[in-house]
Amino acid sequence: MNLIECWIEHPVLQLDKTYSYVTENDSIVPGVRVLINFNHREIIGFVESVTKYNSLEEINEEKGFECKPILSVLDEESYLTPELINLAKWMAYDTVSPTISCFKTMLPSKVKPTSSNHKIKMEKWVHANDFEASLTPKQAEVYEYVCTKGELKYTDLRVKYGVHAKNCIDKGVLEVIEKEVSAIFDDEIVTSERLNLSECQEKAMKQIQETDKSVILLHGLTGSGKTEVYLQLAEEVVEKGKQVLFLVPEISLTPQMVSRVKSRFGSHVAIYHSGLNPQEKYEQFKLVKEGVVNVVVGTRSSVFMPFYDLGLIILDEEHDHSYKQDNTPQYHCRDIAIHRASTFGCKVILGSATPSLESYARAIRNVYELVEMNQRINETLPTIHCVNLKNTIKKGESYILSNTLIEKIEERLKRHEQVILLLNRRGYSTTLRCNRCQEVIMCPHCELAMSYHASDKTLKCHTCGEVIRNIHECPTCKSKAGFSTFGFGTQRLEEELQQRFKESRILRMDADTTSKKNSHERLLQMFEDGKADILVGTQMIAKGLDYPRVTLVGVLNADAGLNRSDYRSVESTFDLIVQASGRSGRSELAGEVVLQVFDEEHYAIQTALRQDYVSFFNCEMKFRHAGGYPPYNYMISILVQDMNQDKAKKIVKEIHNELKGDFKILGPSTLLRIKDTYRYRILIKGKDLEKMKDCVRSVVREKCAIGGCPTIKVDVNPMILD
Ligand code: ADP
Ligand code: ZN
Ligand code: ZN
Repeated sequence: MNLIECWIEHPVLQLDKTYSYVTENDSIVPGVRVLINFNHREIIGFVESVTKYNSLEEINEEKGFECKPILSVLDEESYLTPELINLAKWMAYDTVSPTISCFKTMLPSKVKPTSSNHKIKMEKWVHANDFEASLTPKQAEVYEYVCTKGELKYTDLRVKYGVHAKNCIDKGVLEVIEKEVSAIFDDEIVTSERLNLSECQEKAMKQIQETDKSVILLHGLTGSGKTEVYLQLAEEVVEKGKQVLFLVPEISLTPQMVSRVKSRFGSHVAIYHSGLNPQEKYEQFKLVKEGVVNVVVGTRSSVFMPFYDLGLIILDEEHDHSYKQDNTPQYHCRDIAIHRASTFGCKVILGSATPSLESYARAIRNVYELVEMNQRINETLPTIHCVNLKNTIKKGESYILSNTLIEKIEERLKRHEQVILLLNRRGYSTTLRCNRCQEVIMCPHCELAMSYHASDKTLKCHTCGEVIRNIHECPTCKSKAGFSTFGFGTQRLEEELQQRFKESRILRMDADTTSKKNSHERLLQMFEDGKADILVGTQMIAKGLDYPRVTLVGVLNADAGLNRSDYRSVESTFDLIVQASGRSGRSELAGEVVLQVFDEEHYAIQTALRQDYVSFFNCEMKFRHAGGYPPYNYMISILVQDMNQDKAKKIVKEIHNELKGDFKILGPSTLLRIKDTYRYRILIKGKDLEKMKDCVRSVVREKCAIGGCPTIKVDVNPMILD
């Protein structure tokens, strides 16, 4: 008889502990899911441990109560390795989340127990037989083709040769076999040789190899050739028979990274991201589990792949916000990567031209190894021009495209070079700007822009909860000229461009044009193939692109993000400008950048103009220090939400009263109501993160164990607070 300890997911209660069941089935292993009866409901349990006993009596005696048998087993094998099971438990602790939510986050949805999902897809492949039959010339051609390929999908052969393919099969010279659908066989991979490293790359590589620190921050200018360093380090690891994980912010936006990795490691690379359908995800997951591939390129969730011998983790664009999950468990991929690397005893490389303040602060304190690459491969940085919209609008220039930008676009069109225009739409029209002095209204307590809520005409600070109603007078210049929330979107920009440059070919990339699967790749491919002159888009086009013919990048309203209402807005703005600028002039052709701003003097703009990360870091750290923000303090956000306002309010008050410790408590502040759900936030700030977590955990856990409790979301080290 076996004693099974399992984690359960209860539809109403969040009970974060294991429950005991028994079974005679000896094939059950930790990590599989079982169906159990809990309080007269059938629910799913995740097996945490299995212990063999001589009899049921023995188990009951030890437990002191009568253990019930499980109802059935849902998985034939465990998709979680023992290492991943431990990781889930650690993650639950680290992110203050229910353990079951961590298990669920780790697994591809395909292995969830809906039976129809369980079916594994098969497909037809063909290979050549030895034969004696006589063939027509066309059939001979088909036969030759299959021989050179070895093996290929039947559908591909049908597309190429039509009925001749079928005739060959009928004659028996080709044979059809059924195979489990697998994503590994990629037909046309362009291979690439390793490049001769520049001096700067060589130095970086050596420092990474020689350090005995396990976390390395690779701070390299855009275009300094970080990718080649990653690839060569990865090759070394693969040669030793170990596995490599490449983490990227968003696959669809970084197709070049995927193709570079594939070109070096051949088709035996797993690709894992949210754009895959459940079957595809399951296939990639299995490729890693079975050790068929040793290189994985993927987004956030691929940090949970079932590796057995990980030798290196590379986390590119480590500052990127998409590494943080915004549902429970709100983990940061970087933390998971660092934790797994320490389990496997391997190195993690965090790479970026604009590292997060936290990481850079750790690097200069010698917690991480700091490796710098200060030379672009082509040895020149783009020239950056700054246009002050306050002045140009006064002179009557368009508030969308300044004359400077128009001129420079014209030049590019004449020379048949390409232009990228980035419109950072985030933060638009949520702030108010004075019509006279053009200043944005800031929170009197937080030095942060206040958010304007048009529905009830109020200004709110999302960090401290300050509310201003009926504002008539500008706090800065005392003018009564009123305020604007003006803004324009990418669509409007596209129209404006098309009117001005009638002959130009324009591509627009934003949430509206990229909703279909593969549309990102398609649009970027068109641009790469020179089928367009101007690429217009939101921040999604700022990352990772490497196109040699792009010689002008324009960032319209580059400082719009500075007015966002959270403490990271300055950092995000700096990142965005530097990253976007880095797309210009990456090859032989020299590059230029035009920034259109209102707040030319702001240090984020000034330092971005000089591509001077270190000065930016120093200024921003002063601001963070003054406000007591990370990395000087840790923060935990507790969000309570419910459709019933009174219920949510009551619980948030209770939590507020019960939180006690050596930390500051801000709020509760009222957030925007979303989908008829009332939301309240408490923010705690302090120096001792472990103690803060312990306190939050005990208070929150008690609330969640009571039926009908509002949803409580805990976010440790929150990235965005609006
Ligand atoms: P980063 O990721 O640092 O912004 P990339 O890795 O994209 O920069 O490199 C920029 C460009 O330089 C790419 O087009 C890449 O192919 C090229 N490159 C990188 N290393 C070398 C090298 N050693 N020799 C020649 N070209 C290189
Ligand atoms: Zn004013
Ligand atoms: Zn405030």
